[in-house]
Amino acid sequence: MIFSLKNQVALVTGASSGLGYACAESLAKEGACVVINYHSQAEPAEELAEKIRADGGRAIAVKGDVSKEADVENLFDQTIREFGRLDILVANSGLQKDAPSIEMTLEDWNTVLDVNLTGQFLCARAALRQFKRQEHRKDISKAVGKIIHMSSVHQLIPWAGHVNYAASKGGVDMLMKSLAQEVGEERIRVNAVAPGAIATAINEESTKGEAGKALLKLIPYGRIGAAEDVANAVVWLASDLSDYVHGTTLFIDGGMSLYPGFRDNG
Ligand code: NAD
Repeated sequence: MIFSLKNQVALVTGASSGLGYACAESLAKEGACVVINYHSQAEPAEELAEKIRADGGRAIAVKGDVSKEADVENLFDQTIREFGRLDILVANSGLQKDAPSIEMTLEDWNTVLDVNLTGQFLCARAALRQFKRQEHRKDISKAVGKIIHMSSVHQLIPWAGHVNYAASKGGVDMLMKSLAQEVGEERIRVNAVAPGAIATAINEESTKGEAGKALLKLIPYGRIGAAEDVANAVVWLASDLSDYVHGTTLFIDGGMSLYPGFRDNG
């Protein structure tokens, strides 16, 4: 099996922490040149870029807010200036601003939708524009560009107290599928991954201690996920090994989306 992403350029948004960090690191290990986008945490992003370069790879860290059109344009401009092309986009940035619906502010609703959904649209649009304007890879039998959206099990499972987040991920599902339908014949592949409970900063409170034990009841496979579980799937989706996979969401959730509450309910 050949996973090599040598000579390909990958841009990962929100890559100064968690899943984005792990994706950027794993893509670089497979030979990709990596652009590490960060929003506010410059230090871990710069350190990761430095680590990749020290290991013989190529990487840069670029600041940018994915919900701002001008920042996204700048992010892609810097990518092309540094590496000359783009082959892989991992639209990963996301956040939560949780509250019961009747207490949720319009500001918190908008912030989550702006980053989690509009941000993914802006980045995907910029990637598509770049895929169209650049020369194709040498192996013309394979995809000319790959977009991987970071969704969530909550594109499928409703989530009380998190309506902004669940709505944003439901939107990501239809964004991904509609884009895939639109650009497939240009051999641009568009897919998503939908993680379940993965131990990262976004859910630190719910994955540790007693809350972590309670969470395990929702995971048939019996463990909380690690960032590498998601990164491995993203590398596969970015590689030619998945060349016939298009318009699909890969759930990486230890079975969380199997509605395990029904298991003992027979
Ligand atoms: P995280 O908080 O470590 O990562 C989120 C990243 O997004 C951070 O690096 C943050 O700086 C970045 N970000 C936030 N606002 C941004 C903006 N305006 N512009 C650019 N970047 C911005 O958490 P994570 O778990 O690594 O989350 C990554 C993605 O995975 C998110 O889209 C999240 O919804 C999704 N996800 C995570 C889990 C999980 O269990 N950890 C489950 C399902 C989906």
